[in-house]
Amino acid sequence: MNFIELTRQYEAYKTEIDRRMAAVINGSRFIMGEEVAELETKLADFVGANYGIGCASGTDALVLSLMTYDLQPGDEIITTPFTFFATGEAIALLKAKPVFIDIRPDTYNIDPAKIPAAITSRTRGIIAVDIFGQCADYDEINTIARSKKLFVIEDAAQSLGAEYKGRKAGNLADIGCTSFFPAKPLGCFGDGGMIFTNDEAKAKLLRSLRMHGSGGNKYDNVRVGLNSRLDTLQAAILLAKFAHFPEEIHLRNGKAEIYNARLPQTIQRPVVLEHNIPVWAQYSIRVKKREQLQKFLTTNNIPTAIHYPKPLHLQPAFAALGYKAGAFPVTESICAEILALPMSPFLLPEEQKLIIDRMGFYFKLSG
Ligand SMILES: *Cc1c(COP(=O)(O)O)cnc(C)c1O
Repeated sequence: MNFIELTRQYEAYKTEIDRRMAAVINGSRFIMGEEVAELETKLADFVGANYGIGCASGTDALVLSLMTYDLQPGDEIITTPFTFFATGEAIALLKAKPVFIDIRPDTYNIDPAKIPAAITSRTRGIIAVDIFGQCADYDEINTIARSKKLFVIEDAAQSLGAEYKGRKAGNLADIGCTSFFPAKPLGCFGDGGMIFTNDEAKAKLLRSLRMHGSGGNKYDNVRVGLNSRLDTLQAAILLAKFAHFPEEIHLRNGKAEIYNARLPQTIQRPVVLEHNIPVWAQYSIRVKKREQLQKFLTTNNIPTAIHYPKPLHLQPAFAALGYKAGAFPVTESICAEILALPMSPFLLPEEQKLIIDRMGFYFKLSG
């Protein structure tokens, strides 16, 4: 059993993936081939946004998005400390300052009630993260942002395919950023990302920024940008996989329901808010003495993962920001207890039964 069953997925869609890849290779259309625009249109339609802009990774999606706001050194961006490093990294890379606030104890997403107190005269925007594939509270976040003239970026790296009040993740803020890293809900065979927006001017700017700040043509550079295109090969693979994506989301929700119903009652399960449909990038439980349980599961050949053992405000790279342990008690207690169980559309019923049985055995023993 693997934590995420990528090989099984490839075997299931092999004919179509191979056909799509061969078409790119035979045409040698490696950079900005027609598959890129096809995927941009398909995914923008899927999330309900006017524009999709492919780029080289989820991290670059965040960097490029921030580049459209003309940040000045010392500008502040409010975000969550309970996320993958890239969320804070993108802010710091542009010489802005990540300002962390604590998260909700139920969904592990940024706590909107804590935003107002964090706003200063230097605050420019908010990056909310849809952690583990469940959307943050965008109605509250966007309302606060609008009243203070701040921008909102949705880090939807884990949530493509999720829904919030009937609307799709990736299209819940001014700009949405997603990732096609292989382990994400819609993953490619390497790195890739996409940016969604409804703002035509931003879309145009993003298309320029991802291609060396190009103007009218490739050798006309009107601004300083990046080399951050989505490879045609990756777009082709994603097109083949995307045909199965709605079914995969359905399967993920089915696996989550089985965990919810059958895991030992003492285990703290993920909390899903009524208006949310998550895409279950992770199915994470909370347990005291996590390392002991993890060791037991490893001995039983059940892979697990910890997202995330260390919050961003305590990362050495952000030491200069001056945060101390204890700054964000909710985040820190969750970092100490969170444990992700195997989750993928290709997790077999007998494998999931084994996981649940072993967990039952363990908690009977440990009381
Ligand atoms: C994976 C991830 C990213 C970065 O995506 P890459 O494609 O790996 O660069 C950013 N934010 C979050 C929340 C992520 O999970």
